[in-house]
Amino acid sequence: MINRLIWKSNEISKEWNDSCLKLKRLSDDINYEMLKRGIVEVDRYTLLPYCFDEQLRRITDDGFIFYPLYRAVSTPDFSATHKIADKIDSNSTVEGIITHSKGIAIKYAEALKNNDNIEIGRFHSYPDCCINFFNKYWDGKITDLCYESAMNTDGHIIDKNTVEAECSLSNNILIRYFGFRAIQFFPCSYKCKEAIKLGNEHFKVLQSIDASLPDKLKYLLKQAVTWDLYKGIIQIEHPLFYGISGGYQHNRRIIKLNICD
Ligand SMILES: [Zn+2]
Repeated sequence: MINRLIWKSNEISKEWNDSCLKLKRLSDDINYEMLKRGIVEVDRYTLLPYCFDEQLRRITDDGFIFYPLYRAVSTPDFSATHKIADKIDSNSTVEGIITHSKGIAIKYAEALKNNDNIEIGRFHSYPDCCINFFNKYWDGKITDLCYESAMNTDGHIIDKNTVEAECSLSNNILIRYFGFRAIQFFPCSYKCKEAIKLGNEHFKVLQSIDASLPDKLKYLLKQAVTWDLYKGIIQIEHPLFYGISGGYQHNRRIIKLNICD
């Protein structure tokens, strides 16, 4: 899947590009720190061919274990789906989890094998309401539930193929394709209070890693955004940039989010 972001002007690019690259790079570090702080029980983790020694040393030094799940073809984006690789080379990664014990790792791998969304969601400490929402709508064909989240948000307005809804800043997942997100899951509603709590933890962890970034991320997330799925491609319009990402086959669907905090 290809994700492309095009800044709307050179001035915007100059002002934002460096912070945005940092936000993208820190995404894995934030998840790892959430595990260290006990906020989540399991962290999905990618072992990279060019630094796996450093990664494994850090994991072991921190008292965790890495449990491999499958080999994947390396992707530079934030795709939720991975292409399975049949060999290990510089273009492949090992996808797995980091956790505290072998017992948890085996239970997680089992849940994954059984497509047990509820169990997997619990390992990641996602809110029950959002886990149940995911389990209800995830069917393998609609591979992005942000439209469903909008339809499930109180007060949403439908106009032909457009749904407009209010969204709390941390629940804005419409620009996650480019690395800008505060939560790691589809919220059951853009106003879900339990999801907001996890978003707040994300900002706290980000603050501890790089104090210059939370305000930047909040600024990006609080802008009204339009998401437009057409012929399998998602187009994003944000005040600072245009973006495209791979979507799924469906009649045209448009989401307009207005951020309410
Ligand atoms: Zn929820």
